[in-house]
Amino acid sequence: MPDRRRILFLFSDTGGGHRSAAEAIIEALKLEHGGQFEPVLIDVLKNYTPLPFNHLPALYPEMVRIPRAWGLGYRLSDSRQRARALSAALWPYLRRHIRRLVRENPADVIVSVHPLLNAPVLRALGRRRPPFLTVVTDLVSTHALWYHQRAERCLVPTQAARQRALECGLSPRRVDVVGLPVAQRFCQQPGEPADLRRQLGWPLDRPMVLLVGGGEGMGPIFETACAIASKRGRYGLAVIAGRNTRLRQRLEAVDWDVPTFIYGFEKRMPEMMQAATLLVTKAGPGTITEALNAGLPMVLYSRLPGQEDGNVGYVVEQGVGVWAPGPLRTAAAVHDWLARPGQLKQAAATCRALARPDAASTIANTIWSYPLRSTKPEAQGAQLQGEAAH
Ligand code: UDP
Repeated sequence: MPDRRRILFLFSDTGGGHRSAAEAIIEALKLEHGGQFEPVLIDVLKNYTPLPFNHLPALYPEMVRIPRAWGLGYRLSDSRQRARALSAALWPYLRRHIRRLVRENPADVIVSVHPLLNAPVLRALGRRRPPFLTVVTDLVSTHALWYHQRAERCLVPTQAARQRALECGLSPRRVDVVGLPVAQRFCQQPGEPADLRRQLGWPLDRPMVLLVGGGEGMGPIFETACAIASKRGRYGLAVIAGRNTRLRQRLEAVDWDVPTFIYGFEKRMPEMMQAATLLVTKAGPGTITEALNAGLPMVLYSRLPGQEDGNVGYVVEQGVGVWAPGPLRTAAAVHDWLARPGQLKQAAATCRALARPDAASTIANTIWSYPLRSTKPEAQGAQLQGEAAH
């Protein structure tokens, strides 16, 4: 089909957020443009880089378990000059592989949702190339590697991210604040909380605290759930262990003093967020954005040094949550908030005011604004040979 656009999404599964963002944009494109395009989703690190980079997606959960070392590496590399030096140093190792990526995946538009991929892919593409867009999936503290001056557009979630893009040398007219793209299910009009609670089997007569530590059930979730539940009162607790099966088993073995519901990896996150009263979570950008859409105030118990640092300040300064690391402080913050339902209601309204549920569709429209071009493999292959000869 000659007029079907081929849109290449470059991501890597270092954490779940990059893939989720790409999928949310594809979903929005499908809603608007149905079968008129072909999305191609590629985990570049896994499939198109040599050892040891191709193991980064598998190693990432282990690497972030040493947050200090992770934070140090993040900060040491986070400046325009250092990001450029890092990219230049890696290029000899990556060149052959990234050129193969470009050769094997001709496209009308390329969308990168990962900071590590921008510089090498743009370099491999050369001068005659399709439009290249970056969608930044960190909220506030965004790494310099996200911002490459040759990208046609850079779509960022917050004003703070835009400011950072400008500091990194991007032209103001290329940077748009659009919000962080999340799945449509998190963007629809909220259902009636009472109906949702009936469907979930949750009590109707008390506030519900939802505790979640990202997809992997990270952080001191067991200790935090116990600390919250050690204070009796008229509230219920829903604890999501995610893919952490050991955590789920430990939670299920407890005889809880308050109505408590334990879950593994949950597909009903939008419903749960809309039915809950207060969220307790780590400072992941996806979960924070989804909670804003659901009008759900939050207590943050941990953050990953580096890319999640700014998320804490953002949540606190905007008045949609509090920072309370450590199970005892988290539990105290939860009970403090449950005792002040008026403030909780106000924070829920602030969440809704801050939400940008149209982020994915705005990004989809921007992508679609770039015209169809020839994507014949020979065309890009010839272009690449030209570039290699430079
Ligand atoms: N999530 C989910 N089911 C679960 C736990 C988490 O669908 O049982 C989703 C959650 O809604 C969010 C993502 O996993 O979209 C977590 O993203 P975030 O950026 O907060 O943290 P990450 O896991 O990427 O560190």
